[in-house]
Amino acid sequence: MYRSRPATALLESSFFKLPGTLLLVFDPDWKLSVISAAWSETLGFAAGDALPASFPELLHEDDRAECTAKLAALRQDNATLRFSARCRRRDGSYIGVAWNVSFDAESELYYASAHETAVNLGTDDAHLPAMYVDGLTGLPNRSLFLDRLEHTQRRSERRQDLQYAVLYCGIDRFKVVNHSLGHRMGDLLLMSMADVLRAAIRPTDMAARLSGDEFCLLLEDVTDVSSTLLVVSRIQQKLIVPFTLNKHEVFSSVSFGIAVSGTKRQTAEEMLRDANTAMVRAKTQGGGSYVVFNQEMHDRAVRRMDLELSLRHAVERGEFQAYYQPIVALADRSLAGFEALVRWQHPTKGLISPAEFIPVAEETGPIVPIGRWMLREACRQARDWQQRLPGGKALSVSVNLSARQLLHPDLLADVAAALADTGLPPQLLKLEITESVMVADPEGAIALLEDLKAMHLKLLLDDFGTGYSSLSYLHRLPIDTIKVDRSFVMNLDQSETARHFVETIVHLAHKLDRDVICEGVELEVQAEVLAAMGAEYSQGFLYSRPVAAHEAEMLIVAGISAMT
Ligand code: C2E
Ligand code: MG
Ligand code: MG
Repeated sequence: MYRSRPATALLESSFFKLPGTLLLVFDPDWKLSVISAAWSETLGFAAGDALPASFPELLHEDDRAECTAKLAALRQDNATLRFSARCRRRDGSYIGVAWNVSFDAESELYYASAHETAVNLGTDDAHLPAMYVDGLTGLPNRSLFLDRLEHTQRRSERRQDLQYAVLYCGIDRFKVVNHSLGHRMGDLLLMSMADVLRAAIRPTDMAARLSGDEFCLLLEDVTDVSSTLLVVSRIQQKLIVPFTLNKHEVFSSVSFGIAVSGTKRQTAEEMLRDANTAMVRAKTQGGGSYVVFNQEMHDRAVRRMDLELSLRHAVERGEFQAYYQPIVALADRSLAGFEALVRWQHPTKGLISPAEFIPVAEETGPIVPIGRWMLREACRQARDWQQRLPGGKALSVSVNLSARQLLHPDLLADVAAALADTGLPPQLLKLEITESVMVADPEGAIALLEDLKAMHLKLLLDDFGTGYSSLSYLHRLPIDTIKVDRSFVMNLDQSETARHFVETIVHLAHKLDRDVICEGVELEVQAEVLAAMGAEYSQGFLYSRPVAAHEAEMLIVAGISAMT
């Protein structure tokens, strides 16, 4: 940035006058001509103290030879050198420093800027500063970033007028580059991205690589969110043109999560967490955008964490309940069976919808015991109705299986045990799976479904039409029934596309010898259209919402025809 300027011009530039700039200038004999005030302060020198005269004097004895050799080489290749080295403070202790040095051929001077590290290594210098630097990009790593963030946080507590911002940056679809072009290209992309980030900030700010494809920027002395958005747009501008990596052109974008320090006291960890929460939200917007963290997001993250914690014990505390929604034959409106849908009666929050907690349970693991409980409970209930109620005999029960449950090694044994222990005839049990289970390993999934089918139960493909298209392998899936998603049924009476879609699926299903359930039927007209198309079954609020077992029992006794 300042390579072509002589030292005097540099000293006069406003850049140099920025508070906190860690800057050194020295000549090829290592003689120091500039030590910025921030540096002498970091190194523990007071005004009037004699400052070190040469650059190597600043370094740890063991780091000197290597550093000066690297720096000497720099005079030929005109590049910028990044390295880490221990730096000696006035009191004899050491700090780890990530250096950024360039040589200006015109003025014959070295310019060294450093990320202020403040990682105090003490006089016992067993640690190497390399521990604080990311080997691939040369950027500070997570520990160094957090350390600096804490430092900044403490400073902002003393000076209320100083605000700072954390920008969490996630490279969008990085895995795709890694998988399709190889890890070497992935590395090159990370290095190029690091350069873009480094160039977008002031020397007093910090860019760090936190993990895999995640970087973080710490912007000091910001006035408000708008100044952080300038940095975002500067980075976005740079990413409009592709990176040329090993002759390949690779477009890349970044999702930003922004947290700005405010009146609330917050630890460095909390700032980082908030910025991360916002980044996760930005990713869901499809990439390339930014989200500024706000209270609502915080509340949501807290609620999610609460859910996660209380989910772990909810099964053993018996907080789940199975609800049942009727499945109705379209030809004569008779009751064909029920879908079992889980409900969570939270001790303080009341009834929580599965749409809220199932994804959390799926992501964090408790879906396995929840699903196991539901399977058993639904089989027990269906068997009980079958034995006690007239009309209960041939009713099927459908149980939803999540992808994680399906991949669990105990699945086959769990299903076999639920059937054996409750005595429910297997042909009355339907397991609902979604297309998502096919994505990672279609062959493995098909083999597993075949093992399930061997138990003589029925398999059903749920939410059909919403996931990755399974049309290409639909004929290979050992399923009995396709369940058309609510979104198509909902629009049947208005949208021709929806009508054509459902009609095509019904035809295709029949060609493949599968039957069709349409879910989300709310209106009589929808049921009529579906019946005319030849779909076998329907399910929806038109007949009944999901209800508790004792209410479902009344539906069985009354016969579904009484309800429509
Ligand atoms: P799903 O399996 O597709 O279940 C159908 C959802 O649509 C149910 O929502 C049901 O109440 C709702 N629904 C049925 N008819 C209508 C209608 O006419 N109009 C409207 N607007 N909605 C209708 P619910 O019970 O909230 O469950 C949501 C999702 O949560 C389920 O979608 C399923 O994916 C998941 N889920 C529920 N219970 C379980 C479970 O025990 N295990 C697993 N793994 N997932 C479950
Ligand atoms: Mg379902
Ligand atoms: Mg569904």
